[in-house]
Amino acid sequence: MKSSSADKTSPIKARERMRSLTKSTPELEQRALDARDKAYAPYSKFHVGAAVQVNGHIFTGVNVENASYPLSVCAERNAIAAAVMSGKVGLEAVVVATGASPPSAPCGGCRQVLREFAADPAKVRITAINPAGERRSWTLAQLLPDSFTGKELP
Ligand SMILES: [Zn+2]
Repeated sequence: MKSSSADKTSPIKARERMRSLTKSTPELEQRALDARDKAYAPYSKFHVGAAVQVNGHIFTGVNVENASYPLSVCAERNAIAAAVMSGKVGLEAVVVATGASPPSAPCGGCRQVLREFAADPAKVRITAINPAGERRSWTLAQLLPDSFTGKELP
C-alpha cells in the first residue's frame, strides 16, 4: 500500500473530514475534478465528475452515457451508488465538477436522489466547480425546497 493511500484512511484525516460537514473541502473538490477525467460521455461530450462525502468518507462517480440516451446515469447518482455499496448513507457534502461556465448545478433528478440520503438538507452543501476555478454553492434545501421524502409514504 502506498503511503498516500494510508493517509486517506488514517483516523486523523477521517476526523478532519467529519468536522467539515457543511462545506466542501479542497480534497472533495480535487476528487470530483479527478473523477471527471474518467467520465464516459461520447455523445454529449459533457464530462461530469462528482464527489460525495458520506459519513466522513468520500465516494466519486462520473456520468455514464449510453447510445440509448435515456439510460445514461449522472455522476452524482453513480457516486451515491458507490456510497450505498459501502454501507454509508449519511450525506454530508457534494461537489460536482463540469467544464461549464458558470459551473452546472445538479439536475432535478439528482437533487431528489441526494435528498434521499440527507438527514437535514439545510446542512448539506452542494458545490459546483469547473477546472478554471469558478464555483457556485448552495445547500441541498435551497436547490430542492419542500422536498418529497419517504416520511410521506404510508
Ligand atoms: Zn443528474
